[in-house]
Amino acid sequence: MRKIKKLLVANRGEIACKIIKTAKKLNIPTLAIYSDEDINSIHVSLADEAINIPGSNVSDTYMNSMAIINICKKYKANAIHPGYGLLSENAAFVELVEKNNLIFVGPNSEIIRNMGQKDKAKSLMENAGLPVVPGYHGAKQDKDFLKQTASNIGYPVLIKAVAGGGGRGMRIAEDNKTFLSALTEASNEAKTNFQDKNCLIEKYIPLARHIEIQIFADKHGNVIHLFDRDCSLQRRQQKIIEEAPAPKIDDEIRSFLGDISVKAAKAIQYEGAGTIEFIADIKNGLDKNKIYFMEMNTRIQVEHPVTEAVTSTDLITWQLQIADGKKLPKLQDEVSLNGWSIEARLYAEDVSKDFIPQTGFINHFNLPNQLKHPNCFIETGTKKGDYITPYYDPMIAKIISHGTNRNESIRNLKRYLDELEIAGIITNLNLLKKLLNNKNFKEANLDTKFVENNIKKLTEDSPQTSHIALAGLIIFKNLIKNENNYWSMWRPSQYPIKLIINNTIFSLNFIYSTLDNVEVHFNDLKFKFYSVKIDDSHILTKLNGKDEKVTYNSFTEKNLGNQIFTIFTKENTFEAQVFNSMIFEENQKEVSQDNVLSPMHGVIKFKNIKKGLHVKKGEVLMLLEAMKMEYSLTCPRNGIIEEIHVKDGQQAGEGMELLTLKKDLNDG
Ligand code: ADP
Repeated sequence: MRKIKKLLVANRGEIACKIIKTAKKLNIPTLAIYSDEDINSIHVSLADEAINIPGSNVSDTYMNSMAIINICKKYKANAIHPGYGLLSENAAFVELVEKNNLIFVGPNSEIIRNMGQKDKAKSLMENAGLPVVPGYHGAKQDKDFLKQTASNIGYPVLIKAVAGGGGRGMRIAEDNKTFLSALTEASNEAKTNFQDKNCLIEKYIPLARHIEIQIFADKHGNVIHLFDRDCSLQRRQQKIIEEAPAPKIDDEIRSFLGDISVKAAKAIQYEGAGTIEFIADIKNGLDKNKIYFMEMNTRIQVEHPVTEAVTSTDLITWQLQIADGKKLPKLQDEVSLNGWSIEARLYAEDVSKDFIPQTGFINHFNLPNQLKHPNCFIETGTKKGDYITPYYDPMIAKIISHGTNRNESIRNLKRYLDELEIAGIITNLNLLKKLLNNKNFKEANLDTKFVENNIKKLTEDSPQTSHIALAGLIIFKNLIKNENNYWSMWRPSQYPIKLIINNTIFSLNFIYSTLDNVEVHFNDLKFKFYSVKIDDSHILTKLNGKDEKVTYNSFTEKNLGNQIFTIFTKENTFEAQVFNSMIFEENQKEVSQDNVLSPMHGVIKFKNIKKGLHVKKGEVLMLLEAMKMEYSLTCPRNGIIEEIHVKDGQQAGEGMELLTLKKDLNDG
């Protein structure tokens, strides 16, 4: 058997870090690759060697097959671990790895190709004895035939592009009337995205759970399963909270799913880590006869740590050992379930805006004291000061908890998340906490539409009024920090401040009796804070006789110069800033004289501008719609519009160059 001599890790972020750390423990030298954006990343500093692949886009860097193979040759790495995503399920890449006599940590290219085709995968798995969703996955693509087939299956049906993935090339057809247009849409989308217009048809399951089985196979014909996971909590068909084992499954269903998965893996002579995903029709409760094969992922999954936690295994080690020709470390009867584990994925995304990914600096990232949370751990490749770019998946970290039972695991995870602090970028942290507090989640009433159907409740995260007052107090105290003398001598009876919190403007009035005792009035509410003590990151005060202690972080926005305060409370994390249109206008003047930059994220609207137009200083060129308000982007000097870099109606990120001016030579 060939031995892994040096391992190239063809990935980034947390999974690259975990693979590198694991390889180190096994005394395997590691070689990281990195794009231009990732030069300061943790995975780069962890690896024994790190080689830059120039560029930012994944196609130029982490998915640049030829560059990766060439690096292997030049730096004498004889094995590649692809992690998940990126090239992990790319059959053409794996073929190239095989042709170059390198070890691929995963199955062979033929299996990857077969499992990547939905029709082929369904046929193979059906032949291997797995139940598949009722439907048609044959070669005939005649439209009328497919329509008749859909009628026979019974509406609603789901049309899936055979080459599809990531939810693309998928359409629901409700009835005979809409079938043909849905088919055309799915097929066109598939042709554009996957160069293959063929589709399959499935019965659409409106109320479903996503249950999957972790399997492992070695080169010697041994195959085992490591039980089940539930991944029903999804948004945009992407998982956010996963758990092992899957709740509310009896022993009969559990061993049935495990057994058929092992049988299927054996039938296709599988090798390495794999996941068989099932969809369970739960309209009438979980029923063994209504669980169907959905797809097989031929790689390690993001959510594998929950399986590790409940089976006391180290699956990356297993992957490396199997790729090295070793036998599976455990037989089926040597693995058992121990307790419960839940994983929450922390993403840089704005839940309130349809989960749109966010970019920006992580100004503050404070993890809870690990000693206080022995049953939780975090897997991350991100640190304070990193920039979340638009080029890669916006996942910041995975937080995994363990407990003797599900409730304990939920409680442990909740306690950890309550203490986790992140600022500078909008994340889904509040949503994760809300999910863990949700009654139906606690009772394990899970289905794949859970997040979508409860989105209003899950995104209601306006802070408590006392926390708004407290945020105001923090900002007020920071504003007057260096003006104590002035304040003690000339203290006005009232001091008004406008704050923006969650797109809403609050008008607060501060009434000062002594430096330590402040009253905050807003919306007809009065909060009397006593014994106020504040430092750079905490405020301690008494409200209604009770101690209030809140942590906060403040940073100055790069382009605007606005000071943003992030307030961390147990219930939620929120940002507050002084609303002062003057600050905005002042900062516009300081931005480079040749460019108009976007001062924050927002939607751009043009004001009669075009290339070559003569413009004057102060003239409004564009409007930026953000935080439900419109800001005017004015011309920094007289000149001619040389280039417009955005389209009317486009979303612009903070700091994005919107327009370039050139000198008007006729202008005095
Ligand atoms: P992709 O490869 O594009 O991710 P999948 O076949 O894995 O597509 O399905 C993605 C998601 O779509 C599943 O997790 C599930 O929520 C939903 N889904 C798939 N098939 C069905 C079906 N027959 N009925 C209802 N929902 C489905």
